[in-house]
Amino acid sequence: MKIRVLGCYGGQLLGFHLTSFLINDTVLLDAGSPTEVLTLEEQSKIEHIFLSHTHLDHIKDIAFLADNRALKRFADSSKAGRITIHSLQDNLDTLSKHFLNNIVWPDFTKIPTKEKGILRMESFEAEQVLTVGDLEITPIKVEHPVPCTGFLLNQDGAQAIFTADTGHTDRIWEIANQQPNLKAVIIDCSFPNNYEKLANMSGHLTPKGMAQELKKLDKLGSISIYLYHMKPEVLTEMASEVEAEDIPHLRMLTQVDELVIKA
Ligand SMILES: [Zn+2]
Ligand SMILES: [Zn+2]
Repeated sequence: MKIRVLGCYGGQLLGFHLTSFLINDTVLLDAGSPTEVLTLEEQSKIEHIFLSHTHLDHIKDIAFLADNRALKRFADSSKAGRITIHSLQDNLDTLSKHFLNNIVWPDFTKIPTKEKGILRMESFEAEQVLTVGDLEITPIKVEHPVPCTGFLLNQDGAQAIFTADTGHTDRIWEIANQQPNLKAVIIDCSFPNNYEKLANMSGHLTPKGMAQELKKLDKLGSISIYLYHMKPEVLTEMASEVEAEDIPHLRMLTQVDELVIKA
Protein backbone atom coordinates (compact mmCIF):
# COMPACT_ATOMS: atom_id res chain seq x y z
CA MET A 1 0.00 0.00 0.00
CA LYS A 2 1.20 3.43 -0.92
CA ILE A 3 0.34 6.43 1.25
CA ARG A 4 1.13 9.77 -0.35
CA VAL A 5 1.04 12.72 2.03
CA LEU A 6 -0.75 15.65 0.41
CA GLY A 7 -1.09 17.69 3.57
CA CYS A 8 -0.13 16.89 7.15
CA TYR A 9 -0.56 20.14 9.09
CA GLY A 10 -3.21 21.30 11.53
CA GLY A 11 -3.13 24.84 10.20
CA GLN A 12 -2.89 26.50 6.82
CA LEU A 13 -0.01 28.81 6.04
CA LEU A 14 1.90 29.52 2.86
CA GLY A 15 3.49 26.18 1.95
CA PHE A 16 1.68 24.16 4.63
CA HIS A 17 -1.29 22.06 3.59
CA LEU A 18 -4.15 20.67 5.64
CA THR A 19 -4.72 16.98 6.35
CA SER A 20 -5.07 14.70 3.36
CA PHE A 21 -3.51 11.36 2.42
CA LEU A 22 -3.81 9.66 -0.95
CA ILE A 23 -3.84 5.87 -0.76
CA ASN A 24 -2.95 3.88 -3.89
CA ASP A 25 -3.83 6.89 -6.11
CA THR A 26 -7.61 6.41 -5.82
CA VAL A 27 -8.58 6.72 -2.15
CA LEU A 28 -8.38 9.86 -0.06
CA LEU A 29 -8.19 9.85 3.71
CA ASP A 30 -9.63 13.28 4.49
CA ALA A 31 -9.77 16.11 2.02
CA GLY A 32 -7.99 19.11 3.50
CA SER A 33 -5.75 19.77 0.49
CA PRO A 34 -6.08 17.50 -2.59
CA THR A 35 -6.98 20.27 -5.04
CA GLU A 36 -4.06 22.40 -3.83
CA VAL A 37 -1.58 19.59 -4.44
CA LEU A 38 -2.81 17.25 -7.18
CA THR A 39 -3.00 17.88 -10.92
CA LEU A 40 -6.40 17.59 -12.59
CA GLU A 41 -5.27 14.24 -14.01
CA GLU A 42 -4.35 12.96 -10.54
CA GLN A 43 -7.60 14.30 -9.07
CA SER A 44 -9.59 12.46 -11.74
CA LYS A 45 -8.35 9.11 -10.37
CA ILE A 46 -9.94 9.66 -6.95
CA GLU A 47 -12.94 7.37 -6.41
CA HIS A 48 -13.37 7.34 -2.64
CA ILE A 49 -12.99 9.71 0.27
CA PHE A 50 -12.87 8.20 3.74
CA LEU A 51 -13.70 11.05 6.05
CA SER A 52 -12.62 11.01 9.69
CA HIS A 53 -14.79 13.95 10.77
CA THR A 54 -16.33 17.18 9.53
CA HIS A 55 -13.97 19.87 10.77
CA LEU A 56 -13.26 22.25 7.92
CA ASP A 57 -9.55 21.42 7.72
CA HIS A 58 -10.54 17.86 6.74
CA ILE A 59 -13.45 18.53 4.35
CA LYS A 60 -12.58 21.81 2.61
CA ASP A 61 -11.41 20.39 -0.72
CA ILE A 62 -14.41 18.08 -1.16
CA ALA A 63 -15.98 21.28 -2.48
CA PHE A 64 -13.29 21.99 -5.07
CA LEU A 65 -12.70 18.36 -6.02
CA ALA A 66 -16.38 18.07 -6.97
CA ASP A 67 -16.33 21.42 -8.73
CA ASN A 68 -13.25 20.45 -10.77
CA ARG A 69 -15.10 17.38 -11.98
CA ALA A 70 -18.29 19.15 -12.86
CA LEU A 71 -17.65 20.28 -16.45
CA LYS A 72 -16.55 16.84 -17.54
CA ARG A 73 -19.56 15.22 -15.88
CA PHE A 74 -21.98 17.54 -17.59
CA ALA A 75 -20.67 16.35 -20.93
CA ASP A 76 -20.67 12.66 -19.91
CA SER A 77 -23.94 10.79 -19.39
CA SER A 78 -22.44 7.75 -17.61
CA LYS A 79 -21.99 7.30 -13.88
CA ALA A 80 -18.23 7.00 -14.28
CA GLY A 81 -16.12 9.38 -12.30
CA ARG A 82 -18.28 9.60 -9.20
CA ILE A 83 -16.66 10.07 -5.81
CA THR A 84 -18.07 8.18 -2.83
CA ILE A 85 -17.71 9.85 0.55
CA HIS A 86 -17.61 7.31 3.37
CA SER A 87 -18.11 8.43 6.96
CA LEU A 88 -20.26 8.01 10.06
CA GLN A 89 -23.91 8.85 9.32
CA ASP A 90 -23.72 11.84 11.69
CA ASN A 91 -20.88 13.26 9.61
CA LEU A 92 -22.65 12.73 6.30
CA ASP A 93 -25.71 14.49 7.76
CA THR A 94 -23.48 17.39 8.81
CA LEU A 95 -22.02 17.64 5.29
CA SER A 96 -25.49 17.71 3.75
CA LYS A 97 -26.92 20.16 6.23
CA HIS A 98 -24.06 22.60 6.70
CA PHE A 99 -21.65 22.32 3.76
CA LEU A 100 -23.13 20.86 0.55
CA ASN A 101 -26.42 22.60 1.30
CA ASN A 102 -26.78 24.86 -1.75
CA ILE A 103 -25.94 27.83 0.47
CA VAL A 104 -22.33 27.37 1.49
CA TRP A 105 -21.67 25.24 -1.63
CA PRO A 106 -23.80 23.47 -4.24
CA ASP A 107 -25.11 20.01 -3.39
CA PHE A 108 -22.89 17.98 -5.69
CA THR A 109 -24.74 14.77 -4.79
CA LYS A 110 -27.46 16.08 -7.13
CA ILE A 111 -25.26 17.65 -9.82
CA PRO A 112 -25.54 17.14 -12.75
CA THR A 113 -28.59 15.03 -11.77
CA LYS A 114 -29.75 13.18 -8.66
CA GLU A 115 -29.13 9.79 -10.35
CA LYS A 116 -25.56 10.50 -11.40
CA GLY A 117 -24.39 13.07 -8.89
CA ILE A 118 -20.67 13.71 -8.80
CA LEU A 119 -20.65 12.88 -5.08
CA ARG A 120 -22.31 9.92 -3.38
CA MET A 121 -22.47 9.39 0.34
CA GLU A 122 -22.20 6.03 2.03
CA SER A 123 -22.31 5.70 5.79
CA PHE A 124 -20.21 3.28 7.78
CA GLU A 125 -20.36 2.00 11.33
CA ALA A 126 -17.34 2.10 13.59
CA GLU A 127 -15.26 -1.07 13.23
CA GLN A 128 -17.03 -2.14 10.04
CA VAL A 129 -14.45 -3.53 7.60
CA LEU A 130 -14.75 -1.74 4.25
CA THR A 131 -12.97 -2.74 1.07
CA VAL A 132 -11.70 -0.92 -2.00
CA GLY A 133 -10.17 -3.57 -4.25
CA ASP A 134 -7.79 -5.46 -1.96
CA LEU A 135 -7.39 -2.55 0.44
CA GLU A 136 -9.31 -2.98 3.70
CA ILE A 137 -10.26 0.10 5.68
CA THR A 138 -11.70 -0.10 9.18
CA PRO A 139 -12.93 3.07 10.93
CA ILE A 140 -12.27 3.20 14.69
CA LYS A 141 -13.81 5.78 17.02
CA VAL A 142 -11.40 8.24 18.63
CA GLU A 143 -11.77 11.21 21.01
CA HIS A 144 -12.56 14.54 19.40
CA PRO A 145 -15.27 17.17 20.06
CA VAL A 146 -17.27 15.92 17.05
CA PRO A 147 -17.84 12.30 15.93
CA CYS A 148 -14.48 11.15 14.58
CA THR A 149 -12.89 7.91 13.45
CA GLY A 150 -9.31 6.98 12.81
CA PHE A 151 -8.65 4.24 10.27
CA LEU A 152 -6.90 0.89 10.19
CA LEU A 153 -5.55 0.17 6.70
CA ASN A 154 -4.76 -3.37 5.69
CA GLN A 155 -3.37 -4.60 2.39
CA ASP A 156 -1.15 -7.50 1.31
CA GLY A 157 -0.52 -8.66 4.86
CA ALA A 158 0.65 -5.33 6.25
CA GLN A 159 -1.28 -2.83 8.35
CA ALA A 160 -1.07 0.87 9.14
CA ILE A 161 -3.06 3.04 11.54
CA PHE A 162 -4.11 6.67 11.08
CA THR A 163 -5.47 8.02 14.36
CA ALA A 164 -7.08 11.11 12.76
CA ASP A 165 -7.65 14.05 15.12
CA THR A 166 -7.73 12.72 18.64
CA GLY A 167 -6.99 13.37 22.27
CA HIS A 168 -6.26 10.55 24.69
CA THR A 169 -8.02 7.42 23.48
CA ASP A 170 -7.92 3.64 23.96
CA ARG A 171 -9.84 1.59 21.44
CA ILE A 172 -7.58 2.32 18.47
CA TRP A 173 -4.56 1.03 20.44
CA GLU A 174 -6.41 -2.16 21.39
CA ILE A 175 -7.08 -2.75 17.71
CA ALA A 176 -3.53 -1.77 16.75
CA ASN A 177 -2.23 -4.38 19.20
CA GLN A 178 -4.38 -7.09 17.60
CA GLN A 179 -2.80 -6.62 14.17
CA PRO A 180 -0.49 -9.39 12.97
CA ASN A 181 1.84 -7.14 11.00
CA LEU A 182 1.39 -3.50 11.95
CA LYS A 183 4.05 -1.43 10.18
CA ALA A 184 3.23 2.21 10.83
CA VAL A 185 1.16 4.61 12.90
CA ILE A 186 0.27 8.15 11.91
CA ILE A 187 -0.71 9.99 15.09
CA ASP A 188 -2.07 13.42 16.02
CA CYS A 189 0.48 15.81 17.50
CA SER A 190 -0.98 19.30 17.26
CA PHE A 191 0.21 21.68 19.96
CA PRO A 192 3.40 22.31 21.95
CA ASN A 193 3.49 21.00 25.52
CA ASN A 194 2.61 24.34 27.12
CA TYR A 195 -0.76 24.23 25.30
CA GLU A 196 -1.76 20.98 26.98
CA LYS A 197 -4.98 22.47 28.30
CA LEU A 198 -5.98 23.63 24.82
CA ALA A 199 -5.04 20.24 23.40
CA ASN A 200 -7.26 18.49 25.96
CA MET A 201 -10.14 20.89 25.32
CA SER A 202 -9.95 20.52 21.56
CA GLY A 203 -9.30 16.77 21.38
CA HIS A 204 -5.68 16.83 20.26
CA LEU A 205 -2.27 15.76 21.55
CA THR A 206 0.95 17.52 22.52
CA PRO A 207 4.35 15.79 22.16
CA LYS A 208 4.03 14.72 25.80
CA GLY A 209 0.47 13.48 25.30
CA MET A 210 1.45 11.71 22.09
CA ALA A 211 4.29 9.93 23.92
CA GLN A 212 1.83 8.80 26.63
CA GLU A 213 -0.53 7.44 23.98
CA LEU A 214 2.25 5.52 22.26
CA LYS A 215 3.00 3.66 25.51
CA LYS A 216 -0.25 1.79 24.80
CA LEU A 217 1.25 0.40 21.60
CA ASP A 218 2.89 -3.03 22.06
CA LYS A 219 5.07 -2.69 18.98
CA LEU A 220 6.53 0.69 19.90
CA GLY A 221 10.22 0.60 19.06
CA SER A 222 9.88 -1.73 16.11
CA ILE A 223 7.47 0.15 13.82
CA SER A 224 7.46 3.56 12.16
CA ILE A 225 5.66 6.39 13.91
CA TYR A 226 4.72 9.53 11.99
CA LEU A 227 3.32 12.70 13.50
CA TYR A 228 0.75 14.87 11.73
CA HIS A 229 -1.52 17.86 12.43
CA MET A 230 1.29 20.01 13.81
CA LYS A 231 0.47 23.73 13.94
CA PRO A 232 2.90 25.21 11.39
CA GLU A 233 3.59 28.41 13.34
CA VAL A 234 5.03 26.44 16.28
CA LEU A 235 6.71 23.69 14.28
CA THR A 236 10.27 24.42 15.43
CA GLU A 237 9.28 24.51 19.10
CA MET A 238 7.37 21.26 18.68
CA ALA A 239 10.27 19.60 16.87
CA SER A 240 12.56 19.99 19.88
CA GLU A 241 9.85 18.77 22.28
CA VAL A 242 9.29 15.74 20.07
CA GLU A 243 13.03 15.04 19.99
CA ALA A 244 13.16 15.22 23.80
CA GLU A 245 10.68 12.33 24.01
CA ASP A 246 13.34 10.19 22.28
CA ILE A 247 10.96 7.69 20.70
CA PRO A 248 12.60 5.31 18.22
CA HIS A 249 11.59 5.32 14.54
CA LEU A 250 9.50 8.44 15.02
CA ARG A 251 9.41 11.60 12.96
CA MET A 252 7.12 14.38 11.85
CA LEU A 253 5.55 13.80 8.48
CA THR A 254 6.35 16.15 5.63
CA GLN A 255 4.39 16.92 2.51
CA VAL A 256 6.81 15.16 0.20
CA ASP A 257 6.52 11.87 2.07
CA GLU A 258 5.29 8.81 0.27
CA LEU A 259 5.05 5.85 2.63
CA VAL A 260 5.16 2.35 1.26
CA ILE A 261 3.64 -0.13 3.67
CA LYS A 262 4.50 -3.71 2.84
CA ALA A 263 4.76 -7.09 4.55
ZN1 LIG B 1 -10.71 18.15 14.06
ZN1 LIG C 1 -7.93 18.75 12.04
